[in-house]
Amino acid sequence: MQPFTYASAPSRVVFGSGTLGQIADEVKALGCARALVLSTPQQADAARDLADRLGGLSAGLFTEAAMHTPVEITERAMQVVRQVGADCTVALGGGSTTGLGKAIALRTDLPQIVIPTTYAGSEATAILGETRAGLKTTQRSPKILPEVILYDVDLTLTLPVGLSATSGMNAIAHAVEGLYTQDANPIVSLMAEEGIRALGSALPRIARDPGDREARSDALYGAWLCGVVLGSVGMALHHKLCHTLGGTFDLPHAETHTVVLPHAAAYNAAAAPEAMARVARALGVKDAPQGLYDLANSLGTPVALKDIGMPQDGLDKAADLAVANPYWNPRPIERAAVRALLDDAFFGRRPGGA
Ligand code: NAD
Repeated sequence: MQPFTYASAPSRVVFGSGTLGQIADEVKALGCARALVLSTPQQADAARDLADRLGGLSAGLFTEAAMHTPVEITERAMQVVRQVGADCTVALGGGSTTGLGKAIALRTDLPQIVIPTTYAGSEATAILGETRAGLKTTQRSPKILPEVILYDVDLTLTLPVGLSATSGMNAIAHAVEGLYTQDANPIVSLMAEEGIRALGSALPRIARDPGDREARSDALYGAWLCGVVLGSVGMALHHKLCHTLGGTFDLPHAETHTVVLPHAAAYNAAAAPEAMARVARALGVKDAPQGLYDLANSLGTPVALKDIGMPQDGLDKAADLAVANPYWNPRPIERAAVRALLDDAFFGRRPGGA
């Protein structure tokens, strides 16, 4: 056994079906009485229902959350926080809404309850990515970590099949990198392998029947585990590439993770054989990068950067940016090899050919 350091993040997790019914009790348990409910415009109806459930504990609604947490939107939300005298936030939605709650908490230290409706995993991390004038910067702070996560499987039944697939692959990406990262440790690796197993088995069932509650429950459980992995250990080449591609070329977050993951895994495979063996075991396949590619392909998601808005003449710039700031990765970051990885991802080739 290698020496390791393990720190667990303090947070309360409520998981099940119909758990939304406990929201008022969770607000009260925090000692709060004026919750500001957050959502995207697309989920405003669900947010209004939630505010109705909260009754007198709801101080108001803010339904303008957007991808990549633009600072202008956070500033508008901050005005509402002050106007209504909110003493906590309840964020209902995916990573975008969770991000807004985190941005408010960073500025106010208000306690947060997050009700995740995708598999992105942001609810389990003390990480916030914010966008100012088109530039995304990421920071960590204990203030950012949500106090309570309330998982209600029922809310994920409406997540469209395509987004379920890409959001689930986004979660798997946290776990894959968590297995080979510099500060990997045995406990987090258990969570990572189990998270990949749960999602790898659930996503094909969801693709066949989006209303399959058992599959939805397994996927949400896997997403939580993968989120904890992301919040507990560092990431590597895959996350760096996706950050670069998302930030510079405005590619969609979950789709980018889905396309890049098999190729980042292939890049690192020879340098991280134990991690790859665990990924392969979790997916029930022989080869981890091919297994990840085949899983994404079987779900009907895009598997090529060219199909999600990446310009071919941007590949050189993406490779330059990815190698610009040296960072830890199991295999050294070599420009020519990264450029070849991006080429494979651009055309959606199956790793290892065939
Ligand atoms: P999202 O939150 O942007 O959601 C995508 C769309 O789906 C939105 O319109 C949303 O309202 C809708 N939606 C969500 N759940 C739904 C449901 N159950 N039914 C119907 N519609 C639903 O997407 P995401 O992939 O969850 O989040 C992406 C964002 O999260 C990015 O900005 C990313 O950077 C961030 N993120 C941050 C972390 C972190 O630790 N800081 C981790 C992962 C992702």
